[in-house]
Amino acid sequence: MDLTYGDEDQAFRAEIRAWLAEAVPAHGPPPPPGDWPARRAYDTAWQRTLHDAGYAGLHWPKKFGGKGLPVTQQLVYLEEYARADAPYISVNFVGMMHAGPTLIAEGTDEQRAFHLPRILKGESVWAQGFSEPGAGSDLASLSTRAVREGDEYVVNGQKIWSTRAHVADWCELLVRTDPDAPKHKGITWLILDMHQPGVEVRPMRTIDGESHFCEVFLTDARVPVSNRVGDENDGWRVTNVTLRFERGTAFAQHIINLRSQLRRLVRMAGQIPSATGTAWDDPVLQAQVGHLEAGVEALWRMTQKGIADAEATGMPAPSGSAVKLRFSELSQELSELAVAVLGPLALGGVRLDGTDGVEVAREYLWSLQYTIAAGTSQIQRNLIAERVLGLPRGR
Ligand SMILES: Cc1cc2nc3c(=O)[nH]c(=O)nc-3n(C[C@H](O)[C@H](O)[C@H](O)COP(=O)(O)OP(=O)(O)OC[C@H]3O[C@@H](n4cnc5c(N)ncnc54)[C@H](O)[C@@H]3O)c2cc1C
Repeated sequence: MDLTYGDEDQAFRAEIRAWLAEAVPAHGPPPPPGDWPARRAYDTAWQRTLHDAGYAGLHWPKKFGGKGLPVTQQLVYLEEYARADAPYISVNFVGMMHAGPTLIAEGTDEQRAFHLPRILKGESVWAQGFSEPGAGSDLASLSTRAVREGDEYVVNGQKIWSTRAHVADWCELLVRTDPDAPKHKGITWLILDMHQPGVEVRPMRTIDGESHFCEVFLTDARVPVSNRVGDENDGWRVTNVTLRFERGTAFAQHIINLRSQLRRLVRMAGQIPSATGTAWDDPVLQAQVGHLEAGVEALWRMTQKGIADAEATGMPAPSGSAVKLRFSELSQELSELAVAVLGPLALGGVRLDGTDGVEVAREYLWSLQYTIAAGTSQIQRNLIAERVLGLPRGR
């Protein structure tokens, strides 16, 4: 693996940096937290801007509408994207990072032809309907039932924690099609149209006062058999493809953003008065920041390797679990330190480095979810033990 950036990569860096320098301010600031219809409009318009400028799906193969860029340029793009503080992928996350890649790997030609261009252009938003009240870590215990009637499945059940489902058009839906088979053998992966009768979405309120995710109730919802991805009862295998994208490479942008978040903390600390000058003069804080900086840069190297490996094999490796695990911990450590440095300023009303202090508190609350979402830290540790280190399965 050679991850040094060559002349072509540096030329691409200059090109994307110049483009972002104009496009990001032109897109304007995001809408206020909690206004989800506005957030959807903001995010999908940005996705369209990326598409029209030729920067959508840089990691997707060319024959599926992506750019198929070499891995070094994908990494350069992520670095420049974070540096420019470009909009968070947000409502486009599921579509771009794991639903689209799952269809590329496992979908039919018709499914790809219909969905992939819409995802790339920001014309459709996806959610994930995997978890249920009785099936989280033990996802294969899911009980949402699909019964085949002619060329349709009739679906009944409940999903939970479906992120941004209240603004989604399509859903990655896991259903049980054979209740008598062993639990991993009776599952099917379906594409659910969120705008049809029998689909009721109820937003849930989170600790920060927002509604990031939803419950989804399914009552005789009908899904055409042509919306099945993979074979009937082969959904667990397809699910693992989705999860490898979700845990393997999907967090790359979040990871490089830690670099920006840490630098912003240093600038903020430099604006907070202390007895000796500013908060940044404290050598203990400088050591803590240095420690985190080393962690972020080491994690970025692991991410680069993960993306390079995925590029070589077409599929993220199970070691992506280690990247996801370390990212979630580092994100929490950084957010905790930021809240400690700001102290009461994190309650809001004071701007530091152009940002209201309350944003730091909001980031702290948001960081708490990273050790749960996309598989808890305990589950990632089990996966690392079994699939990376080859240790025997735990009881
Ligand atoms: C912000 C956020 C967004 C999410 N978005 C989505 C989404 O869009 N779609 C979706 O389908 N789901 C989503 N989820 C759900 C997420 O995938 C689950 O919360 C997660 O898989 C854990 O399941 P659970 O909440 O049922 O916890 P449980 O599985 O009940 O786990 C409870 C505790 O037991 C531990 N535990 C369980 N089994 C084991 C084991 N075998 N070994 C060791 N420890 C174990 C867990 O680590 C955890 O600490 C989201 C979650 C969050 C927090």
